Amino acid sequence: MTRSGLLSLFDKYGILPTPQRVEIASILLERPQHLSADQIIERLRVAGSGVSKATVYNSLNLFSKCGLVREVMVDPVRKFYDSTTHPHHHFYNVDSGELSDIPVEQVCFEDLPDLPDGTERESIEVLIKVRDRTDQPG
Ligand SMILES: [Zn+2]
Repeated sequence: MTRSGLLSLFDKYGILPTPQRVEIASILLERPQHLSADQIIERLRVAGSGVSKATVYNSLNLFSKCGLVREVMVDPVRKFYDSTTHPHHHFYNVDSGELSDIPVEQVCFEDLPDLPDGTERESIEVLIKVRDRTDQPG
């Protein structure tokens, strides 16, 4: 994504484009991907950036609150930031720690429970956990 494309996204989501935020967002929004905060911090380090961990965490929280990125919680201690914000589902490989997308049209529900009184459906997110098969050679 170009710098001007990034800045217009910040504008669209009402995010003040500080240099650090632009740096963090440019890594995450480089292509469709799922990155943890630690992976983003690692990429910033490799790129020679001096952005602090706290700034990365704060910026990612802000981005997901504003809708620029999506949070995907795979378990209580593992959170990913998803550059793809339109509705879709995920496979999570518990062995490799990899998260991958499932197009929304590939999951359909035959029946869904009635919603609790006074509520409406906001979204449905499916996380299918997989592990590597042990009966395969290699
Ligand atoms: Zn995704």
